[in-house]
Order: sequence, then C-alpha cells, then structure tokens
Amino acid sequence: MIDMVYRCEICGTESQKPAKWVVIHCNDAQLNVFKWTEEAAEKPHARHYCGEAHAQVYISRWFESFCS
Ligand SMILES: [Zn+2]
Repeated sequence: MIDMVYRCEICGTESQKPAKWVVIHCNDAQLNVFKWTEEAAEKPHARHYCGEAHAQVYISRWFESFCS
C-alpha cells in the first residue's frame, strides 16, 4: 500500500492521514464540497484543504475567477 501524502493548497500543510480535511471538486460551472473521504480525495481533479477555513479561501477565489 502506498502512503499518499496530501497537501493543503492554501497553506501547504501536508498529511498522510487528513481526518478532518475538506475535498473540493469543481469546474467552471459548479463546485462541490466533500467531507474528507479517500474516495473523494483520490479523484484526479480533487483539491485538498486542511480545514473549512482554507476551503473557504478557495471557494471565494472560485467565485471570483472560476476553476482554472
Ligand atoms: Zn491549509
């Protein structure tokens, strides 16, 4: 089994077992927020955040500029 390391896009925090992190899947038309699950986190375009606060930073940016 490979130990996957996830990194928060906002602050760069890394974790191998991010229990209370947040996963976001988005495109330019919609944004979905997930509580952390391996299934959601492993999706190819998943974005990872260390908590609600940093997920909200991204959500705010997304509203301004959309996913790119
Ligand atoms: Zn963070």
